[in-house]
Amino acid sequence: MLNRQLPHTINVKKLAEQGIRLDGELPVGRLQRVLDSVESAEGQVYLELAFHKDEQGVRVAKGNAKCSVNLLCQRCLKPLAHSLEANFSLAFIYTEAQEEQLPDQYDPVMMLDDNVQLVDLIEDDLILALPIVANHTDSGCDISQYQKKDIPELNQPARENPFKVLEALKNTNLKSSKTDSSK
Ligand SMILES: [Zn+2]
Repeated sequence: MLNRQLPHTINVKKLAEQGIRLDGELPVGRLQRVLDSVESAEGQVYLELAFHKDEQGVRVAKGNAKCSVNLLCQRCLKPLAHSLEANFSLAFIYTEAQEEQLPDQYDPVMMLDDNVQLVDLIEDDLILALPIVANHTDSGCDISQYQKKDIPELNQPARENPFKVLEALKNTNLKSSKTDSSK
């Protein structure tokens, strides 16, 4: 299969009138807000987007996008490969009246003219598709073994009571100073 780089800007009117199906890729590096939301990402976003005009004459596009990103595992704080995928059901609208009549199945995209940045169409949905919390599976996670074997106290984060600290400061002349942090 040929790798086909998708254009930065697309003309929605033309694509919908001609019923064109975009099928290709764009560098994930162009999705700045996705990059900001993940640990790292490289390679391509694979995108399919089929345009047509629906019965009401609204320009719509359906498809999906996929890319690989690295998230940070919230348990061991090491990278975790995640395959990110989002589905699209977009309707390109030009007036608020059009938006009100739009069936629920579509996400409205408000247009100023017939052109739109491809990145702007797909970035929000890819970000929404990110998991809220990323974790390795138990077998793939470093911390699960580390915790069990070596330092069980990691399971119970130390909570220093601030009043205790103040008290200790006040009573330094009564008790020997409370600094056993040299472990
Ligand atoms: Zn992990």
